[in-house]
Amino acid sequence: MSPTSARITAVDTFDVRFPTSRELDGSDAMNPDPDYSAAYVVLRTDADDGLEGHGFTFTIGRGNDVQVAAIEALRHHVLGRSVDELCADPGTLNRDLIGDSQLRWLGPEKGVMHMAIGAVVNALWDLAAKRARKPLWRFLADAEPQWLVSQIDFRYIADALTPQEALELLQLGRHGATEREALLRTNGYPGYTTSPGWLGYSDEKLTRLARQAVADGFTQIKLKVGADLADDVRRCRTAREAIGPGIRMAIDANQRWNVGEAVEWTRALAEFDPYWVEEPTSPDDVLGHAAIRKAVAPVKVATGEHVQNRIVFKQLLQAGAIDVLQIDAARVGGVNENLAILLLAAKFGVPVCPHAGGVGLCELVQHLSMFDYVALSGTTENRVIEYVDHLHDHFIDPVVLREGHYMAPTAPGFSAMMRAESLAEFTYPDGAFWAADLAQGKGAAA
Ligand SMILES: [Mg+2]
Repeated sequence: MSPTSARITAVDTFDVRFPTSRELDGSDAMNPDPDYSAAYVVLRTDADDGLEGHGFTFTIGRGNDVQVAAIEALRHHVLGRSVDELCADPGTLNRDLIGDSQLRWLGPEKGVMHMAIGAVVNALWDLAAKRARKPLWRFLADAEPQWLVSQIDFRYIADALTPQEALELLQLGRHGATEREALLRTNGYPGYTTSPGWLGYSDEKLTRLARQAVADGFTQIKLKVGADLADDVRRCRTAREAIGPGIRMAIDANQRWNVGEAVEWTRALAEFDPYWVEEPTSPDDVLGHAAIRKAVAPVKVATGEHVQNRIVFKQLLQAGAIDVLQIDAARVGGVNENLAILLLAAKFGVPVCPHAGGVGLCELVQHLSMFDYVALSGTTENRVIEYVDHLHDHFIDPVVLREGHYMAPTAPGFSAMMRAESLAEFTYPDGAFWAADLAQGKGAAA
C-alpha cells in the first residue's frame, strides 16, 4: 500500500443494548436478567479507501453507560493520528492508551478502562486487517514473527515468557502453517454450544436444545450451574440422558462459589461426567483455582472470561491452577494482549478454549483461535470455541457454523461491524426499539 497522509477523523461511540432478558437467554447463576449489550466504537478516517475500524466490548445493560464513557475518555489519544502509522504498529496505540497515567489510576490494566482500551485497540486491528484486505486471523498468521513479538507488552510477564521465547514459539508455529490454513478453510475450527444450558430454561427446552446440538454436529455442550444443587443434579441428569455418554458436557458456575463449595458442588455433579467446571470461583483467586483443580480432578478447571489481564493469566498458569484457558476477545486490552496470552498458553502447554456468546464475541474470538491453530499452537486437539446461537444477525459478517465447526471468515477485518439497521434500532435510549419500549413505560434499565 502506498503511503498516505490519512488521519483518524472521528471516534464515534454507540450504546447498543438487546432485550435478551425477556426470554432469559444468557441467564446464569450470577446474571439473572442480562440485557446483552455492546459499547461500540467506530474509527473513521479521511483516507480515500473509505474504510472504518469497528470495535466493541461486551457488557450487560446499565454497565454500558459506564463503558461508553470510558471509551470516550480515550478519544483524544486517537483523533488526528496517522492511519498509516497506527496500522503499521497497533502496539504503539496499545501502549499509549495503557500509559495514560490519569486513566491508569483506575486500573491498572483491569476493569472498565482496560475493556475500553480493548475496544479501541480492536477497532484499529479491524482497520489494519481491512487495509491489508485480509481477515484478521490471516493478517496475524501471515505476519512476521518478529513483528508480532514487537506488538506484545512483556512488562510483568517476562519472568514467564521472554521476547526470545515468544519469537521461537512463533517461528516454530510457522512450520506446516500452509497445510493447516488449507485444513482450516475446509474443515473449520471446532465449536461447542451453550445454547441448551441457560439457567432459566425448562427441562423440556434443555432436552430439546441438547438433542438439537448433537444433531447439529456439536461434540460438547455446556450447562449453567450454581444456583441450586438439587436443580443442577436434575438438569445435569436430564442433559446427560439427552446427549448420551459420548458427548462432552461442561458446567459453568459463573463465579458463584467459595473454594470449598466449588469442590463439594463439582463432586456432587461428578456422576454426570462433566468435562470441565468453568469459573468455579472469583476470577482473581489464583490459588483458589489451584486448590479446586487438585480436589476435583479428573474434572478439568477452566476460567478466563473475567480474567482481567495477561498478568493474572500468567499466575494461573504458573500456579498450575487451570486445565483450560478461556480467552475473551473484548475483556483484556485487545489483540496485542491476547497475543501475549496465547503465547503464554502455548509455552505452558494449556489448551485455549475461548469464551464467546455475548454480543459479537463469537465473531471476534474465532479469529484469535484460527491464528493460534494456523501459526502458533498448530493444533485443535481438545480446543473448542464457545458458540451461542443468538444476535449474530446484527453483524455484517456473522459467524458461519457447519457441523459444529466455525468456518474461517473470508471478509477482510475482524468481523466486528454491526448492521446500520441494528444500530438504529437498538441504540439506547433513542433507537427505535428502546424509544417505543420506554414510551410504554417498560424500560430496560428499571
Ligand atoms: Mg462462562
